[in-house]
Amino acid sequence: MANAAPAAGVARDTTLQPVAVAPRRWEDYRGIAPDDILEDAAEQGRAVRGARILHVNATAYGGGVAELLASEIGLLCDLGIQAEWRVICPDAAFFKVTKQIHNAMQGTAAGLTNTDHAVYLERNAHCAAMLGNEWDVVVVHDPQPAALRVDDPAPNAHWIWRCHIDTSTPDLDVWAFLRPVVAAYDAYVFTLAAFAPAELAGDRLAAIAPAIDPLSTKNRSLPRFLARSTVAATGIDLARPLVVQVSRFDPWKDPLGVVEAWRLAREQVPGLQLALVGAMADDDPEGWQVYELAREATASEPDCHLLTNQTGIGSLEVNAFQREADVAVQKSLREGFGLTVSEALWKETPVVGGNAGGIPLQIGANEAGLLVDTVEECAAAIVALLEDEVLAEQKGRAGRERVRREFLTPRLARDDLALYARLLNGGDRPRGAGERD
Ligand code: UDP
Repeated sequence: MANAAPAAGVARDTTLQPVAVAPRRWEDYRGIAPDDILEDAAEQGRAVRGARILHVNATAYGGGVAELLASEIGLLCDLGIQAEWRVICPDAAFFKVTKQIHNAMQGTAAGLTNTDHAVYLERNAHCAAMLGNEWDVVVVHDPQPAALRVDDPAPNAHWIWRCHIDTSTPDLDVWAFLRPVVAAYDAYVFTLAAFAPAELAGDRLAAIAPAIDPLSTKNRSLPRFLARSTVAATGIDLARPLVVQVSRFDPWKDPLGVVEAWRLAREQVPGLQLALVGAMADDDPEGWQVYELAREATASEPDCHLLTNQTGIGSLEVNAFQREADVAVQKSLREGFGLTVSEALWKETPVVGGNAGGIPLQIGANEAGLLVDTVEECAAAIVALLEDEVLAEQKGRAGRERVRREFLTPRLARDDLALYARLLNGGDRPRGAGERD
């Protein structure tokens, strides 16, 4: 058990760590999230009250999943649900393999060796042995911990695999390895049903989009002077226009493409500044390499700012940048959902978004920004929004309303609760491999 105190002289095993979350209260969302969603969620919550629900993922900080869980777990607890969050914390060898699996599931060809398979399965088995069997529902996020389920370590639980990436065209070899691992789950949840590999179709498949927390430090309202002074403190000139991309330094987020688009846009908007704001996640060993590439590419560009959590960028700074940017960019080539899009739209900042994954879901048919497929389109979209203030304001306002209706945490919690209720009450689907009652 991860929580048991180690015997004297025995090193504590830290491979499955509990994560503490700040409390959340549903009543605080009144007047912010739509009333009908709050009421539905309360009703779903009554059906699940008292259940023990464990969420497991690979990192407590950095990236969208950690962001979601930090808010949703608190809301579940406020409904009388015993929700907990744990992270698997194996080693660099494990995360090297899981990054390859992550990339391969998004479509990059990958050759995993037998040793890679063994590293992945063995580290998962080690964590699984510490899970305990007290759970009613275990929700496992993304491929990294997916193999926790393999030896059925919590046979009384209903198991949900919550995949946050677009795996519609996976590398076939890696998918052949992962398929039996995830096929044993009682339910699979994707942001869009179309993101699931074809073999996972059927009524164990559910589509639930992620969401942002309007009350988190990252998204709550900020006095203008504070937002401005926070951004200015990083070296940005507030008198000149600013484009911002907030995202991990990941090739799929295309930071180098953003730099190219900014250079093109700057030809028409002299003085345009770019900030690439990127957290370094614990489970992302590629981050530093991509950061280095971006740094080399922009070393002689004083108007391109590379900012990370290592240089003091936290949630307050992200909030301020998303507010003060004239245009937010999320030029992903592949994307699960892209929380940063909703984060910027919630602040009424229009978004230029890559036409990938969950980004069109948030932007709609160019309602809350502009969708782009190339560097040139990205540059043109940035210029169009910078040159037409009325258009930019209109898209920003439309974006906030889209997010309010569809992409705030109460809606996510409501949809997840409905799924838990369905599983716990023996719902209308075939019994899954892990269902015992
Ligand atoms: N993020 C952050 N600081 C940074 C970069 C990113 O807090 O420097 C946050 C960002 O605001 C968002 C999350 O990390 O909440 C990224 O989620 P998203 O879904 O956009 O992408 P992921 O990293 O999960 O692929």
